[in-house]
Order: sequence, then C-alpha cells, then structure tokens
Amino acid sequence: MTNVIQAANRDVNGPLLELTDVKTHFRTRRGLVRAVDGVSLTLERGKALGIVGESGSGKTILSRSIMGLLPTKGTERHGSIRFEQQEIGNLGRKQMRHIWGKEMAMIFQDPMTSLNPLMKIGKQIAEPLRIHLGMDKATAWATAERLLQDVRIPEGARRLHQYPHELSGGMRQRVMIAIAMACGPTMLFADEPTTALDVTVQAQILDLLNDQRKDRNMSLILVTHDLGVVAGHTDEIAVMYGGKLVEKAPTRALFADMKMPYTEALMQSIPKIDDPSHTRLMAIGGRPPDLVNPPQGCRFAPRCLYTRDKCLTEEPPLVATDNPEHTYACWYPVGSPEYHESKARLSETPVTIGRLD
Ligand code: SF4
Repeated sequence: MTNVIQAANRDVNGPLLELTDVKTHFRTRRGLVRAVDGVSLTLERGKALGIVGESGSGKTILSRSIMGLLPTKGTERHGSIRFEQQEIGNLGRKQMRHIWGKEMAMIFQDPMTSLNPLMKIGKQIAEPLRIHLGMDKATAWATAERLLQDVRIPEGARRLHQYPHELSGGMRQRVMIAIAMACGPTMLFADEPTTALDVTVQAQILDLLNDQRKDRNMSLILVTHDLGVVAGHTDEIAVMYGGKLVEKAPTRALFADMKMPYTEALMQSIPKIDDPSHTRLMAIGGRPPDLVNPPQGCRFAPRCLYTRDKCLTEEPPLVATDNPEHTYACWYPVGSPEYHESKARLSETPVTIGRLD
C-alpha cells in the first residue's frame, strides 16, 4: 500500500494542517458557487479547532475539501492544503483513501444515516481495522470491543452483535466515534456531531471527544453552527461567513473580546441560562449571501446593524488585534467608536438582530 504521508517528512514540531488561500467553487447552471473563497489557517498538533457559522457559510465544504470528500465533477479547487508538511490538495480519491482512517477521519452529523442499518456494529467497527491495518478477523473484533469500552459503551461484547436500530441515538454517535478512531487518526473532523442529540447526551459526547483527543494527542476540527458547543471544547475558533473566514482567535480571547459583528450576533442568538423565562430568542435577520453573486464589500453588510457606506463597497481584509493570534475582517469592529455610535442610535433593544430589508 502506498504510504502517501511519508513518515520521514513528519515534523512533530510543525503545524499539522496548513491551509493557504483555499477556494472550493462549484460550477452550476446559475454560475460559479464560491462555497469556500480564500480561507487560510493553521492547526497545531493535538489542538482542537472549532469552525463555526450558519448553514451556507462554507464550514462543511471546507472540512470536506480538506478530506478530499467532494465530487470531482463540477468542483474547482484552488490554493494549498498541507497536512504533515505535505501537499494533499491535489491528491485524487485513490491516494486520499490511504489517508482516510489512518490519518484523518470524520464523524458525520446523523449516525442513523451514516451507519449501515443492515450490518452489525462489530462488523462496522472491525472493517476499517481489517482494511487499513490488515488485522485478522479475531484481532479486529477484539479491538472493536476495546474501542467500545473507550467510547464508554458498556457490555461491548454483546453490543458488537447488535444492529444500529437497537441502540439509542447517543450510543449510535459513540459507535461513530469508535469507527472514526479505530485506526488512530492524527486528525478527526466532527461535523455537527451533537445536533441530533438531546442536551445532556450532547455534553457527554463533547466531553468524550475532548478526552479522546487528549489521550491520543489527536487534533480535532469541530464543525458547528453553535458557538456554545465549541466554547468549552476547543483551543481556537474560526468563524466563517459567506465562504470566508471572518474571525479567528484562541477560544478565550474570542469570548472575551469578539470583534466581528457577525460573531457577536451568533453569540447573542444562544439562549442564556440566566435569561428570564419567556425571553425571546434573538435571531440574525435576513439570509446568508448568494454565493453566485456575493454582495460587493463586506458579505455580512446586508444583515449587519452597523453597516456604513464603506462596508458596501470595500471588502474588509483580515487584520490582527493586539493579539496576533486574533484576526478579524471588519471595518467597524465591536468596541470601535463607530460601533458605539451606531449602537447608541439603535436605542431600543431590537427583537431581531440584523437588518431585515
Ligand atoms: S465591515 Fe461593516 S458590514 Fe461588515 S461586519 Fe463590519 S461593520 Fe458590519
């Protein structure tokens, strides 16, 4: 089997993942959809990165671009994706197959559609072990039982012989995590891993992912629309809007001093535990931008409360705060004099964040 990621080239001190000006565009009848439009970021080994944004922000397409999970027909990819100091952005599916499982793995949103309903849990966990690691059947099943223990599923030996419909939603998601971790990947993507689960199970799954990341010194990319999900479970957060990276910062810095009005709006749309009962939930008015004809200037301008003329014509570049690790793309960031001036004009607390026109 071809070893696509050469062991000799691994530099344990260098970043695990480096994206430079990554663009993923889709050719459609309406025109070119710029789903990811010039994203650059790095991820260190063993760290957790949250990629946050609404539907259509490009977060899922970005993670699928890194994993090479996009259809080749009609897709245009540009820019550089370096993993373990090697360019993987230009690899085809055949070569990426050697990276999937052993180097990178993904947990999808809905385990019910990702697991094979006709195959026993044990076989679904053992299969990647046999294909990627060449284990014999007995060793693969014994390893599968140990993996169920790792993801805190009791009575593993019995569970291995069950089908997905015999397990609860939380257990199915744990099985997905066991499958993803079976071959000991260096990097794990979790795409909205808790959306289909109730709140208490959500917290357990996020804690489990975090524990496994630390135990295995694995990097984690957590893709979600919910800033609350990434708050206690990531080292860094990247906020995406309209296919672009609009703010990136260490998690604590972002929550302490968010700069981009879009990040602020996402934050305000999370229900707070100390809100009085019947408090109306904030929502971001308007719709995400049309990625075939994105607005000129700042892509968030049609929905932003603080838009000024410059926002409509000039695209804000990513700039750093005093902390070089905290970057944002906004002409009038949260806390600026113009921001306060606009806020003072909006004297009444709006029920809806953002302009609805
Ligand atoms: S650049 Fe202007 S429109 Fe865009 S987020 Fe900042 S204030 Fe709002």
